[in-house]
Amino acid sequence: NYILAIESSCDETSVAVLKNGQELLTNVIATQIASHKRFGGVVPEIASRHHTEQITYCIDAALDEAGIPLEELSAVAVTEGPGLVGALLVGMTAAKAFAWAHELPLIGVNHMAGHLMAANLPDSGGPIEYPALSLLVSGGHTELVYVAKEGEYKKIGETRDDAVGEAYDKVGRVMGLTYPSGKAIDQMAHEGKDVYNFPRAMIKEPGYEFSFSGLKSAFINLVHNAEQKSEVLKKRDLATSFQAAVLDILLAKTKSALAEFPEIKTLVVAGGVAANKGLRERLAEEITDIKVIIPPLRLCGDNAGMISSAAYAEYKAKSFVKLDENAYPSMAFDTIK
Ligand code: ATP
Ligand code: MG
Ligand code: FE
Repeated sequence: NYILAIESSCDETSVAVLKNGQELLTNVIATQIASHKRFGGVVPEIASRHHTEQITYCIDAALDEAGIPLEELSAVAVTEGPGLVGALLVGMTAAKAFAWAHELPLIGVNHMAGHLMAANLPDSGGPIEYPALSLLVSGGHTELVYVAKEGEYKKIGETRDDAVGEAYDKVGRVMGLTYPSGKAIDQMAHEGKDVYNFPRAMIKEPGYEFSFSGLKSAFINLVHNAEQKSEVLKKRDLATSFQAAVLDILLAKTKSALAEFPEIKTLVVAGGVAANKGLRERLAEEITDIKVIIPPLRLCGDNAGMISSAAYAEYKAKSFVKLDENAYPSMAFDTIK
């Protein structure tokens, strides 16, 4: 079984080929970050244009690298949401055309299911043992998902406002860092002290909702007030204090979900923010009684490898879509049907 997968939901055009649900033969990623940097975030129109320019090249490069004849492919998979509509449509259109031309079944994949299923690959330390709990932390999402078995997803909580990655990028902007700033803040956080004691919203409340906008505002106010008084704050202490608050919240909610569902065998932590070193360190220290899977860095950020892994589960469930399928910018996280 060989699945060709396409991802174009945001600012990475990516194409992967997965063999037997296990082996990533290739995972070509063309990132557009350089084009969006100067705007401080992803500009949807620019993203769509870049995808259009890159998509054919990425498909050719992936097929070339995978080194398998076209006739060997079993299916084509594509991210159908959530994401930027124009960006999604480029991948969707390419996938449909490819499926039609080569008479292959088409699989529509949820981007967040992709982040989660990156953990199922042997390269990540998979397979996931079920039931599993997943903490998904990315640029647009922060959620806890209960996975009773492969493909059966139940979101038990999510952020009310900002996603974690978004909060990193917004405070990074106030610190004068370039977009995306998660990685730089993570590095600085290892060099300072937690002196500002930022709010840890909802940490003691029951349930699995998150909120990061209060933390973000507290951070921005602190920096602006200091600027008005011409005080100089140490960036590394700001970073350490911010990251400590974020990690306290993520760890507290994850641990209370694990306590409520003692049957859980695997904790999956995935999405772009799962690249965070501080998060990895605290998970290793504090969650020691079950299997914890955090994909390697190259499988945390957006990539088609993770989409191919989620697609393999859909392939086994014979969950295909038709050639008139749409893109769904705010697609819900739903069970494979
Ligand atoms: P979504 O997956 O929700 O649709 P997205 O695809 O834009 O959003 P990803 O590409 O999964 O998001 O993740 C990008 C985010 O991860 C950015 O906000 C970035 O700042 C953040 N990020 C990357 N590395 C780190 C890190 N080491 N620490 C914290 N955040 C990080
Ligand atoms: Mg991205
Ligand atoms: Fe993503």
